[in-house]
Amino acid sequence: MSEGTAGSVLVLNSGSSSIKFQLIHPETGESSASGLIERIGEPDGRIVYRHCGGVEERKVAIPDHRVGLTMAADIVAEVGRPLSEVGILAVGHRLVHGGDVFYEPTVIDDEVVQSISNLSSLAPLHNPANVIGIEVARAALPDIPHVGVFDTAFFHTLPAEAATYAIDREVAKEHGIRRYGFHGTSHQFVSARAAEFLGKDLSELNQIVLHLGNGASASAIRGGRAIDTSMGLTPLEGLVMGTRCGDIDPGVVLHLHRSAGMGIGQIDDLLNRHSGLKGLSGVNDFRALLTLVGEGDERAALAYDVYIHRLRKYIGAYLVELGGVDVITFTAGVGENNADVRRDSLAGLGRLGIVVDDERNCADSHAPRRISADNSGVQVLVVPTDEELAIARAAAELVGG
Ligand code: ADP
Repeated sequence: MSEGTAGSVLVLNSGSSSIKFQLIHPETGESSASGLIERIGEPDGRIVYRHCGGVEERKVAIPDHRVGLTMAADIVAEVGRPLSEVGILAVGHRLVHGGDVFYEPTVIDDEVVQSISNLSSLAPLHNPANVIGIEVARAALPDIPHVGVFDTAFFHTLPAEAATYAIDREVAKEHGIRRYGFHGTSHQFVSARAAEFLGKDLSELNQIVLHLGNGASASAIRGGRAIDTSMGLTPLEGLVMGTRCGDIDPGVVLHLHRSAGMGIGQIDDLLNRHSGLKGLSGVNDFRALLTLVGEGDERAALAYDVYIHRLRKYIGAYLVELGGVDVITFTAGVGENNADVRRDSLAGLGRLGIVVDDERNCADSHAPRRISADNSGVQVLVVPTDEELAIARAAAELVGG
């Protein structure tokens, strides 16, 4: 980390078993350094730090988040300057669950930390890890403003009929049970970029955004406001994901408990970590899945079909909810890179004004681009997401950078 970092935002994503950080200039979008601390709590931890002078990699046991962050800060100081001296404008924290409390990027003080911690029952894997990230970063950089950007915030506009589960009202109220939605920073960023790409005002457009990564979610956006999304109380609902099942009859959970004698921890593990593509095919990575499909593996072929079927169901639902759509945008690892998924999820929809152009769909590009045919009433786009940049910009805007 050296010259040119002044005015940058340090974006910190402290997840359940890994931490990512990146130093980004909010105006240019340039990333001058980035790091990954992974396999926290395992004997074979790893820290990778990329900076303008090269890449540092350490393989070392990382017992917990605090130790991992301290080690990473030491590496940063060893190869360049200590973080406190590089002219950071703000630290932007990616935070998973803002519950009913946080709807906007928020400057973090002790009270905010306490509130995020209080929301841990809604996101037991994520909020405690987020809080540790905040605590360590605030202790290391006490004179720099810290800003929280919440994954749920963009979806606080969901109308009551989309946010409400049809269960006993009192039980729902007492336990904060409603649909919150996740990946909001990405859905907001991508929908704004799509409007910009088309040269249209966000307020004029009905959009569907399909964020297809390891985790996957769809959203329906009217005039820049989210009116529905596929994830719910937790990021388990909705589309088929790498290891998560997405929509499932809640009766399956009861059945697994009553008839299979599984405990709540086992069911949690099954649905969050051993389901989705992995549960169906044995692999969670989409490229590995496609390799198996290419080799004629039947389990992988079914996993692919289930994935596409679920995606089409959501697209259909959102087309109707929005009363017609102007733009459908694909983003994240699978959405940006996989032409098959884009083609198959929108195949045969010419009657609805949706026609994907094969050549445009297969073009090798990483820029925002249109993949619909000229005769398609609906614009179909691929727009790379950049949640870190969105967080950097939100933090800079809030602290007046
Ligand atoms: P997350 O941020 O949720 O961890 P990403 O958005 O990075 O996930 O997406 C990861 C997924 O994208 C993986 O399943 C990976 O296989 C898939 N992916 C990345 N590159 C390609 C590619 N070129 N073709 C197909 N799938 C890809």
